[in-house]
Amino acid sequence: MPSTMPARGSLVTVEAFPLGPFETNCYLVYRSGREAAGSACWVVDAGYEPGALVERVRELRLSPRALILTHTHADHIAGVDEVRDVLGVPVWVHEAEASWLTDPMLNLSAAVGLPVTARPAERSLCDGEALDLAGAAWRVLHTPGHSPGGISLYQPESRLVLAGDALFSGSVGRTDFPGSDPSTLAQSIRLRLYTLPDDTTVYPGHGPETTIGVEKRSNPFVRA
Ligand SMILES: [Zn+2]
Ligand SMILES: [Zn+2]
Repeated sequence: MPSTMPARGSLVTVEAFPLGPFETNCYLVYRSGREAAGSACWVVDAGYEPGALVERVRELRLSPRALILTHTHADHIAGVDEVRDVLGVPVWVHEAEASWLTDPMLNLSAAVGLPVTARPAERSLCDGEALDLAGAAWRVLHTPGHSPGGISLYQPESRLVLAGDALFSGSVGRTDFPGSDPSTLAQSIRLRLYTLPDDTTVYPGHGPETTIGVEKRSNPFVRA
């Protein structure tokens, strides 16, 4: 079963599904209390073996509106075409990685000998873009460094951010991949994430959730 974590204020509910061999956290996001009403939802990232996530969308009878990608490394996109086809949703990705879905060299899957591709995204996202999910306002924060098109999705009223592989509990994303850059990642974390309120819950691409305040105080890799 996924862990269900109704955010404070209960505007938005986030359910985490750690999928595949890398336990990539893929998320189901929807307005709290409206799950039985065909309410709009997003799927954020689609890793290997996304069946449990798809089943959950059906169980709650949600109406999926988009599959949003925090970035396009293989473990976050291996299930993209399965999810988009089964749920009938468009795929949204930051413009800097628009070409990565179709290119196993860029999405790093070629490096492990199991090429992953997905059809091109339907929509490109850019920094600062405002998104709406069932009346809840979200903002796209470009947080590159782990990869050039990494984004975080921020919902101010619920004090939560889905940070992809930029920031983890007690760690940060790897920066030894092609296209990664350590100083860019540190800058993204300091300028885009550590500037959010301390009580903002961080839902990372791997591992448990944390808060901005805890990471600012104790993350050994990027100091506030
Ligand atoms: Zn990654
Ligand atoms: Zn990852």
